[in-house]
Amino acid sequence: MASPEQTSTNPSVFRLCSSCKKPIAFEASYYRCSVSTCNRARVAYYFCSVGCWDAHVPEQRHRDAWAEPVKAPTRAAYEAEAAREAPSGSAEPPQRRVVESRVVESRVVESKVASPEPPQRRIVDRRVDDPADKEILVVVSKMKAYIKAKSGFNTSDEVMEGLSDRLRRIADRAIENAGGDGRKTVMKRDLP
Ligand SMILES: [Zn+2]
Ligand SMILES: [Zn+2]
Repeated sequence: MASPEQTSTNPSVFRLCSSCKKPIAFEASYYRCSVSTCNRARVAYYFCSVGCWDAHVPEQRHRDAWAEPVKAPTRAAYEAEAAREAPSGSAEPPQRRVVESRVVESRVVESKVASPEPPQRRIVDRRVDDPADKEILVVVSKMKAYIKAKSGFNTSDEVMEGLSDRLRRIADRAIENAGGDGRKTVMKRDLP
């Protein structure tokens, strides 16, 4: 058993017990193993009780080991220590950065969803390989929400491609109809 997650997102928790994963609070008593390899910075073990320390002994095959009672530092002392050890500037908990990047991502998604306006003008002067022939023309989130509300079903992304292709065909017919009528404005009555 290595020590996958000894730190916790809970700010009042100093470490998680390496055996039972229970939180060890700041200023609480806990136990460390007397063996030096169990105390290396990256793989240090922390135990909430002697019993939890006992549990790791057969795993580590210690011959001569004991549990050392220790007291967890105060939160302030711990943070000061972390700030001293970390290169300057990175003392900030990374959590905040994660939140920020999520916000950025969701903004990108929003704008993707919002942008496919019906590209009327592009259809008029489009060429064979025009990207307008591949663009998604429906508001994906709204279409998915509609299908969900109607049926509770999920919607595969391919549906949006198929719907967009059909909308293009309908638009092409409407363009023909408007043009055949001598108009340069496509109207509702031009829709096939
Ligand atoms: Zn424990
Ligand atoms: Zn040990």
